[in-house]
Amino acid sequence: MKNYIIQNAKYLVVVNDKNEILKGATLVIKDGRIEDIDPTQLPTDKEYEIFDASEHLIMPGLINTHTHLAMTLLRGWAEGVNLDGFLEHIWAAEAAIMDKETCALGTELGAGEALLSGTTTTLDMYLNPDATHKAAVKVGLRHIAGPIFFDFPGLDGLDWDQRVAFARQWPLIHKEIGGAQTPLFFMPHSVYTDSAEHLSEVAALGKEYGARIHLHVSETEAENSMSAKIHGKTPTQVIRDTGILDVPTTFGHGVHLSDADIEITASHGGSIAHCPGSNLKLGSGIADIRKYQEAGIAVGLGTDGCSSSNDLDMWSVLRLAAHMIALQHSPVDVELTGIVRAATIEGARAVGVSDLVGSLEVGKEADLIAIDLSALHLTPVHNILALLVFAAGRSDVSDVWVAGERVVRSRTLVKIDQADLRKRVSDRMSALDPLR
Ligand SMILES: [Zn+2]
Repeated sequence: MKNYIIQNAKYLVVVNDKNEILKGATLVIKDGRIEDIDPTQLPTDKEYEIFDASEHLIMPGLINTHTHLAMTLLRGWAEGVNLDGFLEHIWAAEAAIMDKETCALGTELGAGEALLSGTTTTLDMYLNPDATHKAAVKVGLRHIAGPIFFDFPGLDGLDWDQRVAFARQWPLIHKEIGGAQTPLFFMPHSVYTDSAEHLSEVAALGKEYGARIHLHVSETEAENSMSAKIHGKTPTQVIRDTGILDVPTTFGHGVHLSDADIEITASHGGSIAHCPGSNLKLGSGIADIRKYQEAGIAVGLGTDGCSSSNDLDMWSVLRLAAHMIALQHSPVDVELTGIVRAATIEGARAVGVSDLVGSLEVGKEADLIAIDLSALHLTPVHNILALLVFAAGRSDVSDVWVAGERVVRSRTLVKIDQADLRKRVSDRMSALDPLR
């Protein structure tokens, strides 16, 4: 594999414990890892390709902690609806098109969109994870996938026992597909689609395989009411009592958590994927992430799927997360360092990959992005963190490395042909015509 010298970065945003921002630093990537930062002597072998970063900001790749990548295919399909109306529209469209190949196609599109915008890791909950994972790995994304669980047979046609049987095969499938290293995950959809007995079964599987768990938790007040009706408990209490929280668990959304829920989550080491764009668009509410962070909960950021938030743009998510804190508390309470950390190292912690990625530190896998600072909208630079949270956008990301492999070069995907992908997507979309 090729090695790189990222030379003379105008700014290098490290995201370590000291939140250092280095000027004029050089970073060496060898065998997929960060070998050195600002070495006294640079390697001279020919096997190193040099990237001149004198007009770039280099930082860790963004971590999207909650999404459904294949839903890129349903971007703009259900507009002007709340979560119930949204699910009704989307489930009909999914029923019409989402076979295994189409799940893979949508994921390939999503993985490409994510990488081009500077996201290097995604936690992706969707049907047919064997097909989706293969597709995302092909594009070069660090793609966290896992078996999904509902009580009813979903579009994948699996009944409960088949889901459990597939989950038992998943560790082997996951290993065989390869790609950038990711943890094992099991993904029951939510407490309103999975019974308490079934959630207990997934918790037991999680313990058996040393996997992590991801599910939607308290996305809306309606979900909380439904949980109270079905279980007589909050969603957080349900997942505690079914043993889910005995396994490291990432909550998708976590908008409406009571103080008791926050305490339960914190004491069990649960983490939260905050999706401000989707929560605002569907009118689900505003999660008080400062409260969660103060309780010691790892809070990452996520876009959710493109059917509810229309794109996989993490930059708009950073911005919305900051705006929400200003609105809910005050502008003084917006800590820019905290927002950038949520998009990188805290997101990595929330999905169990902080030992691997999320910061630019020697020994970690080289997941990093280069932001081209030559744009007028990034000029001048008075405050680097404010630039990242409030001014930078995805078109500013010029180059991306995942596990030391350069997967985006000068704003173009390296591993797949974008024009061919667009054609395959457009051909497949004709299957939606009868529903229009
Ligand atoms: Zn979701």
